[in-house]
Amino acid sequence: MINRLKLTGILSAAALILVGCGTSGSDESAVSEDGIQVVTTFYPMYDFAKNVVGDNGEVSVLLDAGQESHGYEPTPQDIAAIADADVFVYNSDEMETWVPSVLESIESSDVIVVEAAEDIALFELEEDEAAEEEHDEEGEDAHSVDPHIWLDPVYAQEQVAAILAGVITADEENKESYEANAAAFNEKLAELDSAYQTAFETAENRTFVVQHAAFGYIARRYELTEVAVSDVSSDAEPNPAKLAELQQFMIDNQITTVYYSDSASSKTAQTLAEATGASLEVLSPLEGITDEDQEAGKDYLSVMQENLTALKKVIQ
Ligand SMILES: [Zn+2]
Repeated sequence: MINRLKLTGILSAAALILVGCGTSGSDESAVSEDGIQVVTTFYPMYDFAKNVVGDNGEVSVLLDAGQESHGYEPTPQDIAAIADADVFVYNSDEMETWVPSVLESIESSDVIVVEAAEDIALFELEEDEAAEEEHDEEGEDAHSVDPHIWLDPVYAQEQVAAILAGVITADEENKESYEANAAAFNEKLAELDSAYQTAFETAENRTFVVQHAAFGYIARRYELTEVAVSDVSSDAEPNPAKLAELQQFMIDNQITTVYYSDSASSKTAQTLAEATGASLEVLSPLEGITDEDQEAGKDYLSVMQENLTALKKVIQ
């Protein structure tokens, strides 16, 4: 009996050694010595992935802060980077409309692809909004659903979970570390959600005017009304009739603030503010944070807090 137990013990130890060799040796799914290599499309995906990966590897981002995240065209270097990565993270086929064809072109790559919004039901745009989109964008890059899912602190947690699953598939060995990182970050996102809930709970004014229609998910989550100057896929200037309509809406509803994005053109917001005597406030869709701002410590959580502070000036 004792001998048999001992033997089992020896066999298990041998099995463990074999497993050890397998994962650090020629196993195809193992990551390189520098750790897992994750390529992401634009800022929120980068920030979420970085929080999951921690110090287990490297996370890079394809779009710089100033680049237009709607209707982006990938470079050959971008495509090569995606093909060479262990994991590629993007928001959705609806946001990064260029991704599906890129993935087709690199079919032979064994990169693990994470569409972070895959399991989230994106909101369809109203018919007239969608029609406007098509008109403005002339087809291809126009969205039929609202892709700005990352701005909702609850959906953001689901996106983190999707990224976690992809990262573990690529690097099973560090599963526990990734799980701990994701849990810690999701806890912060849950706190952010609570802060938004508390801030708006008893507010009487629940309507805000913003240049880029990126805040539909926040509006739905916290029962606010977003009135947007431009549409969900660009900061394009609306036609004069729509601008006049917005002006009248602001006067009728005594709205004295227009939000604009820090990274995009604020011309229309400025025009509207001047015409109505309203003030301008920044509300970031987080589609990019400059290197300078990142070095100064800005990230998804801090900018979402800044957005909350800015919204509280109107939603009260
Ligand atoms: Zn946007």
